[in-house]
Amino acid sequence: MREPAVSDAVFALLIDGTQTEIRETGSADREAVRRLHAGMSPENLYLRFFSLSGDIGGQIADRMCRPPGAGHAAMGAWVAGGLVGVASYEATGEEGVAEVSLAVADWMHARGVGTLLLEHLAALARTRGVRAFSADTLAQNHAVQRLFADAGLSLRRHSEGGVVEFTMPLAPDARYRDAVAERERSADVRSLEHLLRPASLAVIGAGRRVTSIGALILRNVLASGYRGPVYAVNPRAGAELGGVPCFRSAADLPEPVDLAVVTVPAEAVGQVAEECGRRGVRSLVVITSGVDGRELTAICHRYGMRLVGPNCLGIANTAAGFDATFAASRPIAGEAGVVVQSGGVGIALRDHLSRLGIGVSTFASVGDKYDVSSNDMLEWWESDPGTRLGLIHVESFGNPRKFARTARRVGRRIPLLTVVSGRSEAGLRAAASHTAAAATPDVTREALFRQAGIVAVHGLGELLDAAAFLACQPVPAGPRVAIVSNAGGAGVLAADSCADVGLSVAEPSATTREALGRLLPPGAACAGPVDTGAGIAPDRFRRCVELVAADAGVDAVIMIVAPTAASDLVSVVTAGDVSKPLAAVVLGQPESVDVRHGDGRRVPSYAYPENAARALASAWSYGRWRARPYGRLPDLPGTRRADAEEIITAHLSRCPEGGWLSPAESMGLLAAYGLPLAEWRMVGSADDAVQAAAELGEPVVLKAQVPGVVHKSDAGAVVLGLRGEDEVRRAYQAMAERFDGRLDGVLIQRMAPEGVEVLCGITQEPVFGPLVVFGLGGVATDVLGDTGARLTPLTDLDAEELIRSVRSAPLLLGHRGRPAVDIAGLRSALLRLSCLAEEHPDIAELDLNPIIARPDGVVAVDARVRVIPQRHWDPYLRRMR
Ligand code: ADP
Ligand code: MG
Repeated sequence: MREPAVSDAVFALLIDGTQTEIRETGSADREAVRRLHAGMSPENLYLRFFSLSGDIGGQIADRMCRPPGAGHAAMGAWVAGGLVGVASYEATGEEGVAEVSLAVADWMHARGVGTLLLEHLAALARTRGVRAFSADTLAQNHAVQRLFADAGLSLRRHSEGGVVEFTMPLAPDARYRDAVAERERSADVRSLEHLLRPASLAVIGAGRRVTSIGALILRNVLASGYRGPVYAVNPRAGAELGGVPCFRSAADLPEPVDLAVVTVPAEAVGQVAEECGRRGVRSLVVITSGVDGRELTAICHRYGMRLVGPNCLGIANTAAGFDATFAASRPIAGEAGVVVQSGGVGIALRDHLSRLGIGVSTFASVGDKYDVSSNDMLEWWESDPGTRLGLIHVESFGNPRKFARTARRVGRRIPLLTVVSGRSEAGLRAAASHTAAAATPDVTREALFRQAGIVAVHGLGELLDAAAFLACQPVPAGPRVAIVSNAGGAGVLAADSCADVGLSVAEPSATTREALGRLLPPGAACAGPVDTGAGIAPDRFRRCVELVAADAGVDAVIMIVAPTAASDLVSVVTAGDVSKPLAAVVLGQPESVDVRHGDGRRVPSYAYPENAARALASAWSYGRWRARPYGRLPDLPGTRRADAEEIITAHLSRCPEGGWLSPAESMGLLAAYGLPLAEWRMVGSADDAVQAAAELGEPVVLKAQVPGVVHKSDAGAVVLGLRGEDEVRRAYQAMAERFDGRLDGVLIQRMAPEGVEVLCGITQEPVFGPLVVFGLGGVATDVLGDTGARLTPLTDLDAEELIRSVRSAPLLLGHRGRPAVDIAGLRSALLRLSCLAEEHPDIAELDLNPIIARPDGVVAVDARVRVIPQRHWDPYLRRMR
């Protein structure tokens, strides 16, 4: 068991968005705990302790604030420095079961303090070997019963004599995770209200000089039509500045504003933040760069202020009528949410989205993102009906698991687009940070974004191209694109571009071709890309587009017009009666992307066919993702989570830095999750080996365990196919001699019959968190890199797809008369690995190489697992950065 050391303080949000500090209580907290109980109403005390005896608070405080030990722990929740609730557990007589109790100050009831404390205490208890909480509550204590029921942990209930007994196993399952995630989402959104829909606002550091950043922000706020009270803060400016009341310090503000935008020099930011906190300001946007972000975050936590920046351009919410940035122009109100790290990119995106008429809903430049990150913006957009697509350009996404989970959820509602950075395979390989595992996936970050439902493109131009399409047109239902042009050459270019990006060129049906033939001059091309000829009249051209769009074999249309002296076809772009997704290419158009408005329609219009094709391909890939059934997160009967946790915890208490598990630990971990393993024994002598071989059944395999040897067969540490006492004995002795003095033991295994060797594994990806990896084992992995990977948690469909995604899949699915291997067995192995990765964040990497797959089953014969302690034991725990 890991030494119970007092856990770090973390900050988390209550359901109403209030920031709370959560940490273990210590002797210094005794008085606060006593006062909390002393302040509780008699009813509250009675419900909790079934008694109304004198100094109950003092007794509880003594118990709660004693040093942490094996059998107990206590945590407190503080709001603005005051203790508002405590939770503790005490070991019961029963192994692995502890009795939990909660107390929340009367005035803080119904704000989620108890639930938050329960989540944190459960996570802490799990790391200290507690497997279940029990609790006795009075039958009339509905509040705490509801709290237990709503927490999402599976519950057993037993009532007797007016007392309800609860037992809650602490292993987090999918239902519990969903419940926590939902609480997190709503708390996050509530906490952003003050920031993104402020009722009042101050600009701190607004100068008289019109070019000062503060003055520019003030000007933008006023010019963007903000209706709430606006104040300026400047010690030297007098009573009025830029048309608003001005104060010498944040302390003098006439009201605790929802949002303060801070532009003072770096050395003054700390003090200004303090003053804001003391004045009750609810959130800060810190524009200034060169600020100590950690110190600033600590101040914001202390006063419960959410923080954007430092080192950013500012934020805007057009629906709330404010633009608190120092951009030269203001965005038009519209439907795109934008989050960027770099202010310059942000300005470019705002300007282009405004030019295109798509406009911006909310904008945040998150800068050094000590607190508010793209994850927060995703959650905001999810609950904002005005945001219909989201553009993200950041170098990193914050908490990977939260990002992967949030993006997949938000992507169902609105398309999310990003520019991939670190997309080169080299980047990903470097990120995998190890040499031993073969399970370094041969996947690009682009593919991972695609799995998360995010449209990932290669540059800002492409980002706008795709955004223009997704904002203005429906998502294509398929990849078949009809091309209609009045310039045959451009039609061919478009067809080639479609092929390049994985779209197909639709062949109009015979009926459509006939109808086209009646409209077009003899000799015009009616199949493949339709070429109307240059001189066609606008009306006829429009009819042609309508005809192909109506064809059942067409999913989307690219219409290409080359303006000629003979006819102006540009006016036709928005004129047709086309209900399928439509992109226009207007050759010679000065902007590479534009949006043409007319007849209540908006059609994206590109200067080049390749841009149109790529934008369509992005939209189609999003459409395909959204239409794809999610699949099922399977129940995996017989997994023993607690046993696995114990193995990892035991290893980490011996090796606090982490490292490779021993073969016995690895096998134990995998067995706990029901992964099929070849039967094995560890032996220490030739006699042992002979006896084990007899028990296991021949033939057997011997593997020397030598510290530092990673690839055993390369080092001559694997001997296969041993039969008979003599062979086993000789092989053992040969190993003992060869690795003289270095041998940690010898693993003996039943030899699996021949089959296809595959590898399955887990690896960690910096943006997305854990991945499950699959590929063909042996040479195929090392030389061909034929592997694929999926984000966790895998559904049954993900597992099936992953198996089929590798190029050598035909070897598994039945090939040249060879029967298919046990695909269901492989799928189950992948799902079990996904579950293992989800539930044990300490697993840094895991390789099963090979799993031998045969028609009658699959069996792993080699396993390596590396663990690294995670400072925060539960990645799903609600906490701020
Ligand atoms: P390493 O990967 O460290 O070299 P392995 O334990 O994977 O060592 O063994 C090397 C190879 O030997 C495997 O890829 C597999 O082909 C074969 N092998 C190992 N153990 C068994 C077994 N129990 N049954 C069948 N083949 C085995
Ligand atoms: Mg191996």
